[in-house]
Amino acid sequence: MQDVHKKFEFYKQFREQVESKGHILVTSALEWKNQRNHVNILCPNNHLINILPYDFLKNKIPCSRCSGYRKTLEDVQAFAFKLGWKFLEDHYKNDKTPYRWRCPSGHVHIATHHYFTKCQSCKECQRMSYDLLDYYRAAKLHGWQCKTSNYKKYSAQSLLSFTCNNGHQFRTNYTTALKGHCNQCLAHQRKVA
Ligand SMILES: [Zn+2]
Ligand SMILES: [Zn+2]
Ligand SMILES: [Zn+2]
Repeated sequence: MQDVHKKFEFYKQFREQVESKGHILVTSALEWKNQRNHVNILCPNNHLINILPYDFLKNKIPCSRCSGYRKTLEDVQAFAFKLGWKFLEDHYKNDKTPYRWRCPSGHVHIATHHYFTKCQSCKECQRMSYDLLDYYRAAKLHGWQCKTSNYKKYSAQSLLSFTCNNGHQFRTNYTTALKGHCNQCLAHQRKVA
């Protein structure tokens, strides 16, 4: 009886360590034999790892896919989809680049992949205000420049000054800036077509 109790204590302790590293221990208490047996663990990116408890604890990034692995567009799309979001880009470079994501209510939100994996919050849903950085990111997506430099709180409807990649100057709101629609460019395209 003492043994069973001790075994369970080990299991509980190990599970706490696994969880404190943001992982999930899949192997149940019943399946747990001792520390010398492999266990199944789900990494924060949902990869299943089969590993010795000792190896798990000593590795900073125990998941081999996460440690050396570059995420693909499909990984990112699947991750967003699981959370009810949609990844709106057709390419994925790295987790430091800002990308567009669509929230479950259909608002478009810009965040780096790194930020998105940590927290999925939509300013529009939470009725939070926008700041200049949001507008700068939106502009950057299309090679535009945001010319407003007044650092204050804005709403998605506030009009800020932009220059498009063809040098047109205009004022527009956050939603339009996200779409990258410059009326002068669009008018020009219509004339040419
Ligand atoms: Zn992983
Ligand atoms: Zn939203
Ligand atoms: Zn333009």
